[in-house]
Formats: sequence, structure tokens, C-alpha cells
Amino acid sequence: MRTIRLFNTLGREVQDLVPLVPGRIGFYGCGPTVYNYAHIGNLRPYVLHDTLARTLTLLGYDVTHVMNITDVGHLAGDVDTGEDKMVKTAQERGKSVYEIAEFYTAAFFKDTGRMNIRRPTVVCKATEHVGEMVALIKRIEANGFTYSAGGNLYFDVTRFPGYGELALLKLEDLKARARVDMDPNKKNPADFALWFTKSKFENQAMVWDSPWGRGYPGWHIECSAMSMKYLGEQFDIHAGGIDHVPIHHTNEIAQSEAATGHKWVNYWMHNEFLVMDKGKMSKSSGSFLTLQTLVDAGYEPLDYRYFLLGAHYRSQLQFSYEGLDSARASRKALGERILAIKEKAALESHANKLRGTMAAPSGSEPRSSQAQKWLDAFLDDLATDLSTPRALADLWGLLKDPALSPAEALAVACEMDLALGLGLSEIEKTVAPVADAGLAALADGLVAERALAKKAKDFSRADAIRLELKGKGIVLEDGAGGTTWKLA
Ligand code: AMP
Ligand code: ZN
Repeated sequence: MRTIRLFNTLGREVQDLVPLVPGRIGFYGCGPTVYNYAHIGNLRPYVLHDTLARTLTLLGYDVTHVMNITDVGHLAGDVDTGEDKMVKTAQERGKSVYEIAEFYTAAFFKDTGRMNIRRPTVVCKATEHVGEMVALIKRIEANGFTYSAGGNLYFDVTRFPGYGELALLKLEDLKARARVDMDPNKKNPADFALWFTKSKFENQAMVWDSPWGRGYPGWHIECSAMSMKYLGEQFDIHAGGIDHVPIHHTNEIAQSEAATGHKWVNYWMHNEFLVMDKGKMSKSSGSFLTLQTLVDAGYEPLDYRYFLLGAHYRSQLQFSYEGLDSARASRKALGERILAIKEKAALESHANKLRGTMAAPSGSEPRSSQAQKWLDAFLDDLATDLSTPRALADLWGLLKDPALSPAEALAVACEMDLALGLGLSEIEKTVAPVADAGLAALADGLVAERALAKKAKDFSRADAIRLELKGKGIVLEDGAGGTTWKLA
């Protein structure tokens, strides 16, 4: 099984991915906060997570991919400041928090589905796992990492020696972090809430009983509790946007390892941001582009997937309509190439049948060394920190390689697409089928006539036949066993 190498934020280097259990990967990717539509920047991590899961699966790993849905507890500021994002939207719209969550969760899966993002193995909602969160907080408390203040329960970061390692943060610097807007109950600015009982909202709809009083969980605890529930107390990969490094993931590590007393996650993957001309695209500012905005402007969702795959996930990506136009043009050319190859493959298999020879190779037969070379290059590039731009170049190289039969190129392209998710195997021609049987019969007839002409030393007729067939896209190959034809 090929080893995949990934850039691990924990340690800041590309490392071999060594699974905890050989052949199996447990992978958790932070999911959406469902208080609004996902903007196109939010979709970048989900394309990455999907591509990672697809690639690992293609390489032969048994992948369990878990994604949470944040429907409680995420305040506008990641450091426990501002309003609860869900509650705020519910109040503005005059709906219940559950109605808001349901609506935007459905919208999220509609968008991800349109982008060929496969549904993770487990999708779990925060509101359905409050029991697991309470149980985990109890363990953190029992191990001495918490304090109560103002009715809330906080994690004391000074009790956790490795705090900030992921983000290369020093506790001393964190202590000096601005105290502006800081929750006055906190001893240190970096401390974070595990459980709130004192809500800023009088009519907080979502409250649960707990040993610390009726209230609701802090945002970070959900990812620790749900990932451990579905993947165990130690697992392989945790992913999310780069913005999660200094706070959300730093706090997830602290509370998880404080609860269990051992290492939690081995590899941390973070995607860089999609940026706009005017800077950061933000969901809470309300000014953002959604997938539907792109669709309304005439693009297909997979044009945007192609656009994202064209950049490495660790590079910032500037969104522009010009960039999207070129992704669309490339995807269109790709579709046309696949169609042309499909037609040629169909034609050749038909011609082979007419001639009574073996069918052209398909995916189930041994690959030629040239086809294997392209597939190896493709897998190596994905296995090198998921280089999707190089993988796309390999796909193009394969499709343009004249040494491959159409059927074989098609089979390998479809195999590559298991990782890329561009829907290549579903591309069907929309034009009427070409008269392939007629062409094959004509070629067979003219090849036979040419053999007779050559025997009679009528070389000008033989040459004329070669030219005639060339004009129809058929080339002749003279060999020891006679002449054969193939599509150019
Ligand atoms: P949210 O739904 O706000 O919790 O964010 C969902 C995911 O989108 C998180 O993993 C964020 O890190 C990520 N994210 C937010 N903005 C961007 C952006 N502009 N580009 C890429 N990822 C982003
Ligand atoms: Zn998370």
C-alpha cells in the first residue's frame, strides 16, 4: 500500500502518514456552523476533506470520515465573545434555532452534493451529543483543569503544559493577549468556556441540565466529544481551516488531552483561505458569494471544484471570475476530450468485433506499462501532500498520450477521477452517435482492396486508399501479418 505524506501542522513538516491501525484511517474534519449558507470559501475545506478521503480510499485505506454540524455554542468571536451565531439568526428571522439549523444543514448538503463532495461516513450534530460533551467535561474537571466563575465552567490553560504547541504559541504571550472585550470571569485571556450557565440571552432556547447547572456547552468541546465517540480516544487525522489553528484546535487539543492524559491526534491538516479582492470572505459579515451565486452567473458547481483543485490546499487562493472562467474552459475541454475518447473507444471495440479480434483492453484487464506510468505519477503526486494541481496535469498527460488506446486511457481517467471527483465517468455525449459500424466496414473493405492493389503492384491506388482513409481519421499500419487500421 502506498504511503501518503502530509504536511502536519503539528511540527510544521511533511511526514509519512503512519496509521494507528495499519490500513485504516480515522479522520475528523470540522464541519459547518449552520446559521447561514456556506460561502464559497467555506466550501474549500470540504473539497479538501473529500479529496483526502477519496484519495486514501483509492490508495486502499479503510477510511472513517467524521464531520460535525455545529448547531449550538459557536459565538461570533472564537474566544467566547459576541453572540451565539445560531441564536442571533433565529432571533432575526423569528424562527427557532432548530428550524434555522435544519434549513441551513439541508442547504449545505445540497451545495456539497452538487460539488461531488461525498457525504462523510458519520455526520453528527452538536445538539445530539450534549451528553457526551458533559461526560468529557466531567473528566477534564476530575483531572483538575477547570475552574468555575460567574456560573460558567472554564478551562485553565496554565494547567496544561503543552498549551499552544500546535500554533507555536507561548503561554507568556497569550497571557499578554489583549483583555479588551474579555469575559471578566476568565483568569487568563486564553482560558475558554467548557460550559455556560449564564447566558447573555434571556430566552436562550437551547439549554441542557448539567452538573454545573442548566446551560449550554462552549463551542470547542463538541469536536473533542464527537470525534472521540466515533473514532476513539486517539485517531489519525484532524482537519479544518487555517483560522482554527490558534484557538479552536489549540483548545480542542488541550481539553482532549487533559481528559484522557495521552496524545489525541497524530496529524493536523489545515487549508489556507480563499480570498477576495477585498480581503477575507466572512460568513458573519453577510457579504459573501455562495455556490448558488456562481450557478446563477452561469457556472456549474464542478467548475468551482476544478478551480479549487487547481490550487494546492496550503496556498492562499485568490477568487476571481477570470480564474473561474479559465477553470470552466479547462473543464469543458476535459469533458470534450473524454467524450472524444469514449467515441473512439466505442468505435474501436465495434471495429474489433467486426474483425473478430480481441476487444480493446478495459479497466479489468492488465494495464500497459505506459498507462501504469501515468497512474503511478498521479498517485505519487496525490500522495505527496495531496498535490491536486500536479494530479490534474497527470490526468491531462494521460488523455493526450498517443501511445494509449482510447479504452485504456478512459479506464485510467475514470480511476483517477475516483480521487478528483470531477464526474468524468458520467460524461455522456449529447450529440447523435457517429455511424461507427459504417466506418469500420468501409475501412475493412478498403484495406482488403489495398492489399489486392499492392499485390497487383498498383501502388498509386494503394497510396490513394491510404490517403482516403486518413481523411476519415483512420491510419494504416503495414506489418508482417498484413495491414491493420486504427483511429488516428
Ligand atoms: P464555519 O461554518 O464558519 O464554522 O466555517 C467552516 C469552515 O470554513 C472552517 O473550517 C473554516 O476554517 C473555513 N473557512 C472559513 N472561511 C474560509 C475561507 N475564506 N477560505 C477557506 N476556508 C474558510
Ligand atoms: Zn472543530
